[in-house]
Amino acid sequence: LNAPKLFDLSGRVAFVTGAGSGIGQRIALGLAQCGADVACLDRRTDSGLADTVSMIEGAGRKAIAISADVTNRASMDEAVARTENELGALGIAVNSAGIANANPAEEMSEEQYQTLMDINMKGVFFSCQAEANAMIRHGKGAIINIASMSGVIVNRGLTQVHYNASKAGVIHMSKSMAMEWVDRGIRVNSISPGYTATPMNTRPEMVHQTKEFEAQTPMQRMATVDEMVGPAVFLASDASSFCTGVDLLVDGGFCCW
Ligand code: NAD
Repeated sequence: LNAPKLFDLSGRVAFVTGAGSGIGQRIALGLAQCGADVACLDRRTDSGLADTVSMIEGAGRKAIAISADVTNRASMDEAVARTENELGALGIAVNSAGIANANPAEEMSEEQYQTLMDINMKGVFFSCQAEANAMIRHGKGAIINIASMSGVIVNRGLTQVHYNASKAGVIHMSKSMAMEWVDRGIRVNSISPGYTATPMNTRPEMVHQTKEFEAQTPMQRMATVDEMVGPAVFLASDASSFCTGVDLLVDGGFCCW
């Protein structure tokens, strides 16, 4: 066993959703820094996705930008097909696209509930379907879904029943798909971050809560996006070859308290 090579992603092709910002953007770059070529997907129209691609190219790897919405199944199939045409056989997928917002449960509109569920759960499902259809043909692959510690605990003070339920759904959906595809060479795992410093936490209703998040976290701070790279590289690489159906909490100890 060549232990340092366990984390080497040279020659692999990765596909990352939500790659135009935050955790997805940093993981896309991290996979490239470990040797992978990366297809970067996002629905945003600002420079986020182009920034990710240029950072990856700066790291000496190939990257493509794909503008698509994870809630559109046909678009996800097309995105994976384009990835394979332009970069090669898909081996790694990280599904980070997601949204968060809040409202008391008794007041939440059907539209607010449904829009979030469509992106955070159905979007992850469509992403996994498209990715697995390619990986099943190759007989191998690693899928990593970005869930949340909110799928494990209820964040004190945050009225986000739909978000919490969507993330519990992502964790259990990942385990279910891991079992469906275990004999096809595909591993499916999830990462559940704790509070992480990204644009998601700078939306207006969250800004004043940052200090409280830090105080509630045993490590007394939020994670940086850099701290999501190691867990993602681990689950994407041969270092985790016997891990499937795992939810890896990366929460600074939050769920222990
Ligand atoms: P972010 O807002 O910085 O990035 C999310 C990206 O997903 C954005 O670029 C956005 O355009 C994209 N996206 C949203 N809906 C999409 C859609 N329908 N189709 C395609 N792309 C879409 O947020 P982030 O903090 O990096 O969050 C990434 C993931 O991590 C999310 O699933 C989030 O729930 C999860 N998470 C975040 C935290 C945190 O504290 N930031 C904690 C736990 C889990």
